[in-house]
Amino acid sequence: MGKKREIDDRFKKFGTVSFTSTTKVNDFIDHLEQGKVMGTRCRDCGLVFFPPRCDCHQCLSDNVEWFEVSGRGKLVTYSQLQFAPVGFEDDLPYCIAVLDYGDFKVFGRIDREIPTADIEMGMEMKTAVNKLPDGQMNYVFTI
Ligand SMILES: [Zn+2]
Repeated sequence: MGKKREIDDRFKKFGTVSFTSTTKVNDFIDHLEQGKVMGTRCRDCGLVFFPPRCDCHQCLSDNVEWFEVSGRGKLVTYSQLQFAPVGFEDDLPYCIAVLDYGDFKVFGRIDREIPTADIEMGMEMKTAVNKLPDGQMNYVFTI
């Protein structure tokens, strides 16, 4: 019973809806180029999403708006990687971490300029746009 419903839901996400989703999520890159890390918020029930989503799984609304991930979040967990996925080997060692902003959490990397000895659980960090030498962009957690 549950299985059939799951399949129906997946088909609903195919086509027009997923196209809209892709378009909206692409805006995330435009925002990064403007120096802003953005998430989305449901205008109907207030639920907040990061990474950004264009449809709300709580109230099923697609009425969402962008907001900037600003201020500081609390470091709730981090881990220094000694092994990395293919393509990221040259970055080692680096720390992946989660910042808790209260309404939402952000998963990402800690700026490699920050010495590991300075990283403490519970410390407040901000999420900042990071431009890579090859022109690619991401975001990192800084002090
Ligand atoms: Zn909602």
